[in-house]
Amino acid sequence: MAYLDLKLGYGCNNNCIHCVVSDQRAAARLKRGNEDRSTAECKKELLDSLSRGIKQVTFTGGEPTIRPDFLKLLEFAENRGFYLTLQSNGRMFSYPPLAKAASRHVGRFVIALHGPCAEIHDRTTRMKGSYYQTALGIKNLVSAGSFVLGKIVITRLNYRRLKETAGQLMLLGAAGVNIAFPHANGAAGSNFDAVVPRYCGVMPYVRGVIRFVEKRNLSRGVPFSLELEAIPLCLLAGREKYASDFNNAAGQYSELKQLDIAPKDWRKARKEIKRKFPFCAGCRYNALCEGVWAEYPQRRGAGEFGPVR
Ligand code: SF4
Repeated sequence: MAYLDLKLGYGCNNNCIHCVVSDQRAAARLKRGNEDRSTAECKKELLDSLSRGIKQVTFTGGEPTIRPDFLKLLEFAENRGFYLTLQSNGRMFSYPPLAKAASRHVGRFVIALHGPCAEIHDRTTRMKGSYYQTALGIKNLVSAGSFVLGKIVITRLNYRRLKETAGQLMLLGAAGVNIAFPHANGAAGSNFDAVVPRYCGVMPYVRGVIRFVEKRNLSRGVPFSLELEAIPLCLLAGREKYASDFNNAAGQYSELKQLDIAPKDWRKARKEIKRKFPFCAGCRYNALCEGVWAEYPQRRGAGEFGPVR
């Protein structure tokens, strides 16, 4: 089934060092004097996608939960038959009634936790107290019976603590985690050297989190899921199955609706903003692999990657 990724707007109660939409937020403020879609605009986009048979939607942003019409939009989408996924920083769900109310409409929550402790997470979000709110938010959603996945964006602040952050998500009751190499757009682009680590430095810790999850899953009935995003398969020898490229290749039509930008087929658009290398032609994964975000080799070259024969 096709799905829609709907950015409700760019307003947010965090200010993450790796935020990919910080430029778009500033542009929207200038262009429309507002960083968010109106309620009517959100409904129009939902109905437009529905008219083309799209019945799954991810609400994202910015931070959807800080909108005054947040619950109304969940209800609107659900009443029209959409299966709902919500991407959020989870802070607002530290308020139990909101966690319960949202849980009645949302099938799947994806909540960003960027460190195993307040020191790392709050330095990443540049918002004091955000770690405790997010952790409590995840707990409240799980208590309300929701399916919650964690999301960790790798940065220079947190890459050495990926295993502990995944462990924290397990303790909070999340069902799995997506760990993503940062896309150097927006804030991550303007602070590239301070935010974006080198793949060669990160990979020992990625292998550590893989071993940790695999060991945990050996001893539990229900596996904790692990997906690695924007990490090319040539860096994942023997553990290629965790690469999101497999899901992307098998995925269906995926429509991305950003604010004030024409809808895009995200499967195609993602490949256009990633880069492969001349040697990829000789790699066994060439047909499947999406490569890396284009900005990375522009700054750091191709030396860390190489074909898998
Ligand atoms: S060599 Fe190229 S095609 Fe092969 S895994 Fe690496 S980036 Fe992907």
